[in-house]
Amino acid sequence: MKLRPRSDWGTIPWEPDHYGTSHLGVPLEVWRPNGKCRLLLFAGVHGEEPETTYALSRALRQLPDRSPDRAVVLAANPDGLLRGTRGNARGVDLNRNFPARNWQPNPVMHRSTIEDQSDIRLSPGPKPASEPETRALIALIDELKPEQVIALHAPLGCIDDAGQSPLARRLADRTGMPLVRDVGYPTPGSFGSWGADLGLAVITYEFPLAATEVLMRDHVPVLVELLTGTGL
Ligand SMILES: [Zn+2]
Repeated sequence: MKLRPRSDWGTIPWEPDHYGTSHLGVPLEVWRPNGKCRLLLFAGVHGEEPETTYALSRALRQLPDRSPDRAVVLAANPDGLLRGTRGNARGVDLNRNFPARNWQPNPVMHRSTIEDQSDIRLSPGPKPASEPETRALIALIDELKPEQVIALHAPLGCIDDAGQSPLARRLADRTGMPLVRDVGYPTPGSFGSWGADLGLAVITYEFPLAATEVLMRDHVPVLVELLTGTGL
């Protein structure tokens, strides 16, 4: 696939559809493929990880046209991205709000920075899939029926795939990051847990802790390969 000339990288080459609306009324956008969706990539489910949105957008902007079989969600939690919060506008960590068998109602503790203790409290939601952003992403996956999903996060620096899929192995080789079966702590109600319950193949692609331009240099080319289905 011939990529767009650099001079065109300022814009996204085709229009998204809306797959729902956030709590604050922001459209949830998906760049759909032309045909059957084989791979869905989504970023920005944690609003304090905007580098995932930025990197995926930069990769998408290099495509010449609508992908035959890749779908892209740049901002799964637009309210969190607008406000710079990990959770959505209701203070819910969306990645603990999915109706997985292991969902639990206790507060979710997370770290303010990678060196800190996990002492910042968020809600997993009053019940599983209580949040509009969670329900919309579930409905989108039900409609697209992707063969595999890649969720972008930061900054743990690993490729997490409980199923150790061939694509996850290639991604670990390509990025030089370790392939792991979990991130080392429980993630009840996470997107990955929900996917595992359904038999949906989910890879969590965790960017490392690095300056934004270093992440762009190292990971945008990998995302372009994922979006074009070449090299990976
Ligand atoms: Zn995250």
